[in-house]
Amino acid sequence: MLIARIFTLYPEFFPGPLGKGLYGKALDKKIWKLETINIRDYTTDKHKTVDDTTYGGGSGMLIKPDVLANSLDKNLKSKERTIYLSPKGKLFNQKLAKDLSKEKTVNIICGHFEGIDERVIEARNIEELSIGDFVLSGGESAAFVMLDAIIRILPGVLGNEKSIEDESFENGLLEYPQYTKPQIWEKKTVPDVLLSGDHAKIKDWRLSQSEAITRVRRPDLWQKYKKN
Ligand code: SAH
Repeated sequence: MLIARIFTLYPEFFPGPLGKGLYGKALDKKIWKLETINIRDYTTDKHKTVDDTTYGGGSGMLIKPDVLANSLDKNLKSKERTIYLSPKGKLFNQKLAKDLSKEKTVNIICGHFEGIDERVIEARNIEELSIGDFVLSGGESAAFVMLDAIIRILPGVLGNEKSIEDESFENGLLEYPQYTKPQIWEKKTVPDVLLSGDHAKIKDWRLSQSEAITRVRRPDLWQKYKKN
């Protein structure tokens, strides 16, 4: 069972979409478990202060290192992976999703305001991950994205492990186009090869489509693919 432990100032956001549908069922089946920690519960002053102004000036506020570290120290066992969601982080991708899906526990810190005090990141050996080159108001929506990608590949969640193998990024390429019924829709037909029943030919067609799409849409992935 994967334990996803979320450190947030807004615990009411969770489980949100992750408690529904396939993921809700996976929670019932104990494939994964969600623990939500309210960072505010780890303040030590009577006003429950979680944030303060930045040294060196600037308009924003930062989550205080002592409060955040206290919330981590009271909840983590040693050697658990801890991630801070941040636009400065390494870009999250399918490989990292796979990697994280193999952990027993993943701790995820959702920042707010201008972020968190840099010293906690160093002092608690925290990995910084970004979900893309844009700035969100808080880490909660990023946590949903990351957890969605991780939970989806946990064995038993989708019920069809084979469908995961053929997907985008799995072989370094984007996925080929797919079609379902009706065979003719708005006068458009399905490519003949897919109706041929010739599995080898279908496989070749899909690979060539994947290659063509990747070359045009993602030159970065295409360069890497060609090298391997
Ligand atoms: N001042 C920061 C942005 C803070 S945004 C900077 O310029 O780098 C507030 C919070 O939203 C962050 O602490 C982080 O947890 C979350 N967040 C914003 N954009 C994100 C992204 N692209 N990926 C992951 N988390 C993000």
